[in-house]
Amino acid sequence: MLLSVVIPLYNEEDTFPFLLKRLQDALLQLEDGLATEIIFINDGSSDATARILDAAGSKDARIKAIHFSRNFGHQAAVTAGLDIASGDAVVVMDADLQDPPELLAQMVDKFREGYDIVSPQRASREGETWFKRTTAQAFYSLMRVGVDKRLTSQVGDFRLYSRAAVLGMRGLRERHRFLRGMVAWLGLKEAVIPFKRSARIAGETKYPLWKMLRFAWTAITSSSALPLRITSFAGLLSMLGGFVYLFYIFYVTFVTQSTVPGWSSLASLQVLFNGAILLAIGLVGDYLARVYEEAKDRPLYVVDKTMNLGGLPKVEGALWLPERVNHNEMNRAA
Ligand code: UDP
Ligand code: MG
Repeated sequence: MLLSVVIPLYNEEDTFPFLLKRLQDALLQLEDGLATEIIFINDGSSDATARILDAAGSKDARIKAIHFSRNFGHQAAVTAGLDIASGDAVVVMDADLQDPPELLAQMVDKFREGYDIVSPQRASREGETWFKRTTAQAFYSLMRVGVDKRLTSQVGDFRLYSRAAVLGMRGLRERHRFLRGMVAWLGLKEAVIPFKRSARIAGETKYPLWKMLRFAWTAITSSSALPLRITSFAGLLSMLGGFVYLFYIFYVTFVTQSTVPGWSSLASLQVLFNGAILLAIGLVGDYLARVYEEAKDRPLYVVDKTMNLGGLPKVEGALWLPERVNHNEMNRAA
């Protein structure tokens, strides 16, 4: 059996040495006969990540690397890893050791019991601010209620995929990717393992607040049309309210004939409804923009260089710059 470990890297020069050491130790702990490959995706890092990675790859043949041409984001990086992983089981984890490699053995056990997805669940979170914990909790609750009740709470992208699950994921090529939602959508048999999530080992988070918010928005809009439906519903409600108000206007105009004092309420209603209409148009526009981007059908990521891949993989919906890739592979062979 072959186990693939997929790890996205974005400016992780500080964490990489710790990561590699602990990962290699954890892999040693796995029983004999379990072959492994470690796939690193350098997501357009601007620090020394690329250099350190290549150095590691020249010492350990199990290490394979893809270098993106620029930063395509965490979800695209994981996608690339899943695209080329050839393991019978594939584990995706973060570089900062918030996802403990020691859990691999347990995850593989569950996989052997026949689960297609093994999801470590954050039973506790260390080193994260009150704000991050609360917003994360709110995020999961909102997602489960509004988007997909199949989403497993407190499970990030740290996860084991069976070969079948990997093939399933490869079939989903949408541009605005929310992997957790896609996993839930596949509906495969899932096992959940609770674990203690510790703090980042070094460096800083690559998910500042604005990126988190953007991610949450992608999660909502890529998995459901709920916001659109909410606005239509709100539009309907305000229309009904408007009709009721119309009767009132008829009443004061024709029965009591005292129209002048009504000006202020009319003006405020104007403002209110204009706001609601603008909001609705904005939402529609957002979905339209997403449809537009899907229609362009651009590749999900661009690979600039590879290491230890041994030939170009055939991946649809992604761009591999072949000459350079070949050049690099040849360099290695020489
Ligand atoms: N990451 C990436 N591309 C990005 C942002 C992050 O590949 O644009 C990687 C990062 O190197 C790490 C993982 O995604 O391995 C999770 O990022 P981070 O730990 O900063 O996020 P947090 O745990 O704070 O949510
Ligand atoms: Mg982290």
